[in-house]
Amino acid sequence: MVAVLESSPLQRRKDVLVLGATYEPLEQVGWRRAMTLWVSGRVEVVAHYDDRVVRTVRRALPMPAVVRFFRSLRRDRLAVKFNRDNIFQRDRGRCQYCRQTVIKREATYDHVMPRSRGGKKTWTNIVLACKACNQLKGNRTPDEARMQLAAPPRRPRYLPDLWSIRTTSHTGTIPTPWRPFLGMDAVGKARE
Ligand SMILES: [Zn+2]
Repeated sequence: MVAVLESSPLQRRKDVLVLGATYEPLEQVGWRRAMTLWVSGRVEVVAHYDDRVVRTVRRALPMPAVVRFFRSLRRDRLAVKFNRDNIFQRDRGRCQYCRQTVIKREATYDHVMPRSRGGKKTWTNIVLACKACNQLKGNRTPDEARMQLAAPPRRPRYLPDLWSIRTTSHTGTIPTPWRPFLGMDAVGKARE
């Protein structure tokens, strides 16, 4: 019984960042959904907007900006599709060999264990690579080519994650209260 009324034209936006129990960013939701979760006792509010309120029958509350689940969720029902877009996202748009940022349309996808040697197209064998590194590596394993992977490739547990929230925010700017939870500084730059 969340009797919330709010007259702002912003009400259809997804203004609330949802964190998992260990503060990992999970998704963005509208404030109504966030209030429902809060009233049902499943989340705590960890940050508010200073300049927005949600009106209930009895009082006005600051609008939540970030909420956190008390218990961890089962996310495995949301299996992440294996495709180029999601590999790009998993690898944060960086070549996994030289760590440089790669423009999406110039991205190539490297078989860690080369295809010619039985390497499969799987989450654990495909990584994002820049053209130069991909050519340099050729039909060799990373060891043979002396090219170290930034991280062992894994199947992601869920999307969207921190990086996709950062880059696909519909507003184009990340709300200030979200920033500490997305590894950003106060002006919205990524700390990396
Ligand atoms: Zn590279």
